[in-house]
Amino acid sequence: MSVNCSPCASCKLLRRRCSQNCLFAPYFPSNDLHNFAMVHRVFGCSNLTKMLKDVPVEQRGDAVKSLVYEANARVRNPVYGCVGIISNLEIQVSELQKQLAIAHAEIRTMKMQQEFMFINGGISP
Ligand SMILES: [Zn+2]
Repeated sequence: MSVNCSPCASCKLLRRRCSQNCLFAPYFPSNDLHNFAMVHRVFGCSNLTKMLKDVPVEQRGDAVKSLVYEANARVRNPVYGCVGIISNLEIQVSELQKQLAIAHAEIRTMKMQQEFMFINGGISP
């Protein structure tokens, strides 16, 4: 049986016949049950259908990637979802900026020490 003959993940999961015009078939191949299950669990079939239909065809692939990402985040963290991930990343960015500022200060100190040593003929006190 070729891949084209098998129903898409959506139709497989919802136990319905997959047609050539199936909205989900291009984005949820039959071997991708997990992603559809996640998206279906979080958004529901009618919302998913509505959202995909509202997006131009050429952007639907990206929209599906985004929905899958959001759904997975929501399942992992039911309270904050993607916001939890963004918030964690913001904390990491802030922490790394502090470390970078410390590293820059250390570099400045080392340069000043080197200049001092150079001015004093390489003799350290
Ligand atoms: Zn289908």
